[in-house]
Amino acid sequence: MTGFADLGLDLALLKGIEAAGYHNPSPIQEKAIPIVLGGKDVLGLAQTGTGKTAAFGLPLIQKLMALESEVQARQVRSLILAPTRELVLQIAEALKGYAQGSNLRILSVVGGASINMQMKFLLKGADILVATPGRLMDLHEREALLLDGVNVLVLDEADQMLDLGFIHVLRHLSKILTAPRQTLLFSATMPAPIAKLSKDFQTQPVRIEVAPAGKTADKITQWVHYIGTQNRVDFLRNCLAEHMDGVSVVFARTKRGAEKLKNVLVDAGFAATSVHGNKSQAQRDKAIADFKSGAAKILVATDVAARGIDISGVSHVYNYDLPEVPEIYVHRIGRTARAGAEGEAVSFCRPVDMHLLAEIEKLLGMTIPVASGERPTAEDIKKYGAKPVRSASNSRSGSGRGGQRQPASGKAGRSGGGRSAAGTSRTGAGRAGASQRSSKKEDWNPLEAEGARKKRGPKKSANETEQGTGFVERSAPSNKGRQVKKSAKRSAARRKVAAKRKMRPT
Ligand code: AMP
Repeated sequence: MTGFADLGLDLALLKGIEAAGYHNPSPIQEKAIPIVLGGKDVLGLAQTGTGKTAAFGLPLIQKLMALESEVQARQVRSLILAPTRELVLQIAEALKGYAQGSNLRILSVVGGASINMQMKFLLKGADILVATPGRLMDLHEREALLLDGVNVLVLDEADQMLDLGFIHVLRHLSKILTAPRQTLLFSATMPAPIAKLSKDFQTQPVRIEVAPAGKTADKITQWVHYIGTQNRVDFLRNCLAEHMDGVSVVFARTKRGAEKLKNVLVDAGFAATSVHGNKSQAQRDKAIADFKSGAAKILVATDVAARGIDISGVSHVYNYDLPEVPEIYVHRIGRTARAGAEGEAVSFCRPVDMHLLAEIEKLLGMTIPVASGERPTAEDIKKYGAKPVRSASNSRSGSGRGGQRQPASGKAGRSGGGRSAAGTSRTGAGRAGASQRSSKKEDWNPLEAEGARKKRGPKKSANETEQGTGFVERSAPSNKGRQVKKSAKRSAARRKVAAKRKMRPT
């Protein structure tokens, strides 16, 4: 069996690896480490939990340790971008562990923390800077760091970064990062925009795949409960009660829904906590800490908040709400069966959700085994007013995802409009007026920039429409979708008038 020493890693690093408790390299580490040490670009297809961080982190640290010169003021030698604050902090923590005993300056910058402190730390430069794209651009605009000397760039969970609307930041970045560099791009899935991103950033990358794109880890047992008219909360309570020793992550679609569900579980006597966008960073950190320490056995989460969280020992993932983007399913269930452990992913599917399940199954290339209930027939789906099953490819082609999900009978407004309505309401009218603020805000949000861009009505490439399809953490149902449509019509009318007058629309 190949050991870490066989991969060309120095003794100094082997100590850090030992301290981390790793005995043998994971498949992605075995493949990627020699290639990264050799200086080549890597396009890595790997899910979360496969050991990606060490796969790029160990050779990166080794290269930096070999440098003799000290990092200069505000200089960034290598840059790692990840989609969420939690993931950034987690990566930085892991790298510091691997690099123990070295003098490397490893910094992390995320939104929601003091930008002034970050600027102060950056004054002395960073050998490795781990950042969320929004905060990185904020710091760059304030000239707090120098990016033109970045020699190694890592884009981690690239598909999630696109889903979160960071495409414009990345495009902008590709123009700023001018030095010859090595680029390592990791993604759990490989939709067309990722291939485009690879083209923009990489030179003849070596493609590494540890599990086929979109395939879920082998060690995860997947189940679906077809829930007809049963109460989903009761059903979840029963499932959780069956595994009282288990450690579970429950995914809900909306922030308010997640909080409500957590409260119901707490009232029922479960040790539950929650992470979602309505919580402050401190509250989110506390929830994760409680979950990690075992004080809470159940974490109710929305996708954005839970992205990239690495908590070993999660035995069950529950899709209380099925995700509207099939790739998100892969990410969600990757919270369990981490680092070689086994886990179960349990999804609830009502007739009204059937089209979502069909998309997931299409992506996985398999039918998820039934734990209980009966798969809804076309008749059931019709009766419950669900949208007919769409093909995954249609649904992903920009406007195709905007298909309105019809609310279940008698539950008008539950889904609050389809994806594009929800996406646009956040990025368009819902955030109107953000353009002027965006560069001043502490936590620069690309969604706002995108909203401003949409307001101006620029041309959109096929890839850019991904923004409209991207996952955006949603608030509770609203009628914003309709408002957005109205606002879009009004903007179009304004543009027409402006064009006639040969002036820019305001
Ligand atoms: P990652 O995919 O980098 O987030 O890693 C997922 C989990 O696997 C983390 O808890 C790592 O500490 C752990 N891990 C990474 N590499 C190894 C390894 N070679 N042996 C055992 N655990 C590992």
